[in-house]
Amino acid sequence: MKPIDRRMFNHLVAKGAAGAAILSAAPFACAMGNNQEKKKLGIALVGLGSYSTYQLAPALQETQHCYLAGIVTGTPEKEKAWANKYGIPKGNSYNYQNFDNIANNDDIDVVYVVLPNSMHAEFCIRAAKAGKHVICEKPMGISVSECDDIINACKQADVKLGMGYRLHSEPYTQQVKQFVKEKTFGEVQFVAAEAAYRSAGNPDQWRLNKKLSGGGALMNMGVYAIQSAIYGTGENPISVSAQEFSTRPEYFKDTDETIMAQFEFPSGAVANISTSHNFNANSMYVSGTSGWFQLQPANNYGPLSGKTSRGGEIKFPHESQQKLQMDDFAKHVLFGEPNKAPGEMGKRDMMIVEAIYESIAKGGQKITLNFKPGFGFGG
Ligand code: NAD
Repeated sequence: MKPIDRRMFNHLVAKGAAGAAILSAAPFACAMGNNQEKKKLGIALVGLGSYSTYQLAPALQETQHCYLAGIVTGTPEKEKAWANKYGIPKGNSYNYQNFDNIANNDDIDVVYVVLPNSMHAEFCIRAAKAGKHVICEKPMGISVSECDDIINACKQADVKLGMGYRLHSEPYTQQVKQFVKEKTFGEVQFVAAEAAYRSAGNPDQWRLNKKLSGGGALMNMGVYAIQSAIYGTGENPISVSAQEFSTRPEYFKDTDETIMAQFEFPSGAVANISTSHNFNANSMYVSGTSGWFQLQPANNYGPLSGKTSRGGEIKFPHESQQKLQMDDFAKHVLFGEPNKAPGEMGKRDMMIVEAIYESIAKGGQKITLNFKPGFGFGG
């Protein structure tokens, strides 16, 4: 039986869910356990753009341990449409101004921030201050100091914090981690990881506006390639060198178009990552002392696909990655199961992003990184 923390206890008491446990007192843990198993956490999505609309809200219709309980939007028409579609009560709809009143709403346990990158820190911190657990979309913020502010706010409020890194909950990525841990293909010596797509739409979109996005391809898709290099080796990098390429400066006026970077790892393994808003790429290749494996695609919504030097295919039944991810976070909150993508993981990736930009600014100079072993690894 996993212990239950003070905040969750207070929360369950507030909702009446723990009533029986309080009255009968013993066996306390057992009674709480039964109640926990029955309970679903209420999630409020903040920002009803394309990811909330087409991925998260549909996934929340399938989740077992959480459900769509509320919305936070700056667009009144969306409030109406979402209320009609998902039966969201009027009292569970907020806008960006009255959002802090969510503190008084017992239907909402978790706030999931799905806004442009530069707004993540503000809304994650306000959610923590309102006493809600927080899921933050990637990238965690637009600077390491914002990541620290989010982590500290969640610690101070005694709430859980998870990143929207959906791949940690899906089976192909878990298989990669297992291959690496068990040295199925020997010691990893090299990883190549690509995460990129060609952007050709509205040049005024927030992703191409540095104030709102914090950066271009690297902030958006680059974090997937960084992640692949890390779970492909099972280590955090000790150095990074990077290069930037620009072919459409008239379109990418404000943000990076294509970045490539090389990592060194403590074991001696090396990795090369590519990210771009100019070309399409979506794969990871891992070469070890006794074979190789690859995923292609490696980081879209699935189904992913993989193969190995042994001639086998890596194949799993497809399930919504977002469903698996939100259920994993709910199980972390409800039952104390491991946090697969903790806030420190988001911060670690932002430290690497900043080192990549620093290397580019210094003409490709190697930048040293000093992570404690395992820093930012999820459970
Ligand atoms: P989007 O442009 O479709 O939606 C953004 C939402 O923010 C809209 O509802 C918009 O109205 C709102 N908004 C509030 N203030 C805004 C402002 N000043 N400018 C622009 N929009 C504003 O974006 P999205 O694709 O839903 O991405 C949202 C977040 O989710 C981003 O951080 C992105 O990186 C992340 N994301 C993650 C994944 C993933 O697989 N984990 C996938 C897509 C997006």
